Amino acid sequence: MSQTAFSTLNLHSDLLSNLDSLGYEAMTPIQAQSLPLIIDGKDVIAQGKTGSGKTAAFGLGLLNNLNVKRFRVQTLVLCPTRELADQVAKEIRRLARAIHNIKVLTLCGGMPFGPQIGSLEHGAHIIVGTPGRIEEHVHKGFLCLDELNTLVLDEADRMLEMGFQDSLDVIIDAAPSDRQTLLFSATFPDQIASIAKRIMKNPVQVKVESSH
Ligand code: ADP
Ligand code: MG
Repeated sequence: MSQTAFSTLNLHSDLLSNLDSLGYEAMTPIQAQSLPLIIDGKDVIAQGKTGSGKTAAFGLGLLNNLNVKRFRVQTLVLCPTRELADQVAKEIRRLARAIHNIKVLTLCGGMPFGPQIGSLEHGAHIIVGTPGRIEEHVHKGFLCLDELNTLVLDEADRMLEMGFQDSLDVIIDAAPSDRQTLLFSATFPDQIASIAKRIMKNPVQVKVESSH
């Protein structure tokens, strides 16, 4: 098994030292394949099983590309369920521990709407949420995506299975076209190929069979 150290990547030193303290020694195969491309600003389609470390793959990439001094929504991560969004937000916060004043906000359906408006008024760098609720905030003008640099579709196959295609379209229409788009999925049905073709620019596709 090949073991590639995170230190071989062009990652900010505060992210690298935090990975050390988290006990992340080597990249998982999907991280080793996708992270150099993500850091480089490429659109990436990554296919890997549950537990292969996809969250840190996009999480480290988006944190490395973020400008903390600019307090605007720069990254949006869409997940199929509230549970998954909470897990992703938790992992991003762990990976971001060394970055001061970074704000990660979760916006999911099934939660009261009003407090989310208040949180949006306070601002955030990164938003993690479910498509229906994010669509509603975009549609009603509470969430502005004009300064979005990175859009992540996590578990894209499940989001499409759950019927979120229309919400995704509204959200994508509201995002700048010169963004980076990252698509993570366990499977790669035709529906994913067709959405990727519509919303991504020259995506590089990586695939990992085993989980570790
Ligand atoms: P996936 O989204 O592919 O199902 P996750 O991103 O949830 O997988 O990662 C699974 C687990 O592996 C998480 O607990 C995460 O903290 C851990 N993990 C991810 N990358 C590494 C790494 N390079 N070294 C050690 N643990 C890792
Ligand atoms: Mg995942």
